[in-house]
Amino acid sequence: MAQITEADVMSRLKSVVEPDSGKDIVALGMVSGLVVKDGNVGFSIEVDPEKGPALEPLRKTAEQAIHEMPGVVSATVVLTAHRAQSQSAPPPHAHPQQQQQQQQQETKPLAPGVKHIVAVASGKGGVGKSTTAVNLAMGLAAAGHKVGLLDADIYGPSQPRMMGISGKPSSADGKILQPMENYGIKVMSMGFLVDEETPMIWRGPMVMSALQQMLRDVNWGELDVMIVDMPPGTGDAQLTMAQQVPLAGAVIVSTPQDIALLDARKGLNMFRKVDVPVLGIIENMSYFLCPSCGHQSDIFGHGGARDEAERLGVEFLGEIPLHLDIRETSDGGQPIVVSRPDSDHAAAFRAIANRLWEQLDTTGGSEARTAPKIVIQ
Ligand code: ADP
Repeated sequence: MAQITEADVMSRLKSVVEPDSGKDIVALGMVSGLVVKDGNVGFSIEVDPEKGPALEPLRKTAEQAIHEMPGVVSATVVLTAHRAQSQSAPPPHAHPQQQQQQQQQETKPLAPGVKHIVAVASGKGGVGKSTTAVNLAMGLAAAGHKVGLLDADIYGPSQPRMMGISGKPSSADGKILQPMENYGIKVMSMGFLVDEETPMIWRGPMVMSALQQMLRDVNWGELDVMIVDMPPGTGDAQLTMAQQVPLAGAVIVSTPQDIALLDARKGLNMFRKVDVPVLGIIENMSYFLCPSCGHQSDIFGHGGARDEAERLGVEFLGEIPLHLDIRETSDGGQPIVVSRPDSDHAAAFRAIANRLWEQLDTTGGSEARTAPKIVIQ
C-alpha cells in the first residue's frame, strides 16, 4: 500500500468543517504542525482560546476522519490556543475589556510568579531524569520552598505516574488551567491532557506551543522554584525549549556510562550555547546497592560524573545509587523523598536539592537572565 502523505491528510481535512464559519479547517488555516511518519499522523488545530473547549467535537471529527483513511496507523490531533497576530484587529464585536484581555494574552510573560525555573535534562533517555526531577522537587518542598513541577517530556510524560496523579486539570473560565497537585507540589504535564496510550508525534512548533501553554495558561501562582522535566536528548526541540523558557539554569542527570559516552557533555554544551547556566551534574545509578545485603558494586564505574564535572568546571551536585527502593517508589507514585523520608536515598536527594538551591541563590533566578551572562569555563 502506498505510504500516506501530508498532501493526502490535508486533502482529507478539507472535508472537516468548522461549525461557526461553515468553512473547512484547511481553508481557515487552522491546521498546523502536521507530521506524517510511517502511517502515524499528528497535527494541531489552532483555535481561539475562548472557543477551545467548545471545539473538542471538531478535534474528534478531524481525528476520526484521518484515522479512517487507509494506511493510517494512528492519528493524534491536539487543539492549540491560537495567538492572534499583534497587528490583527480585534473582532468588531469585541468589548474594550476583551480587547485589552487579548492584548494582555499576547504579551503576558511565561509563569510570571515563578522565581526560578530549572530544567532537569539528560543527554539520552532512561538515565533517571524524571525520577531525579520528582525527588528534587520534593526535596525542595521539604526544605520549605513553594514548588511546581512541569513535565515537558512530551515524548514520554512520566510525572502523572510518578506524582501519583490521575484525572484531568480543570478550568473555571475555559482559558486558564488549574494545575494538578499532590504532596504539596503543583504539577502540569501533557500526560494529563492526552491519553497515555496515544502515540505522540511532535514537531518543533507544536512542542513550543504546548510548552508555552503549559507555562502561560496554567495558574501556577507564586512559586519559589519550578522544576522542568525536559525531554531527553539534545535535539532541536530541547534547544528551542532551552532558548525560549526563561530558565534560571539547568541540571544534567547522567549515569556513569553516559558520561563515558559523552552524552552528558552534549547536554552541557547545548545549554551553554544558549547561555543557560549549568547549575550542576548529578550522577544517577552511580553504584549498585544490593537491597538484601547492602553490598556496594560499582557496576558502571562509579564517580565518572564527579571527575567530568571537575574537568568541565561545573558543580557536582551529588550521586544517587541504583536501588530497587528508588525504582519501586517513584514508579509507584510515591517517590522516596516523601514515602521514606528517613532513608539514606531521601537524604541524598534532599542534600542535592539544597545544593541546587544554594546555586540558584548565587546565580540570581529567572529574572536575572537579562543580567550579565554567567560563563562557565
Ligand atoms: P528518564 O526520565 O531519564 O527516561 P526515568 O526517571 O523514567 O528515566 O527512569 C527510568 C527507570 O529507571 C524508571 O523505572 C525508574 O524508576 C528507574 N530508576 C531511575 N533512577 C533509579 C535509581 N537510582 N535506582 C533504581 N531505579 C531507578
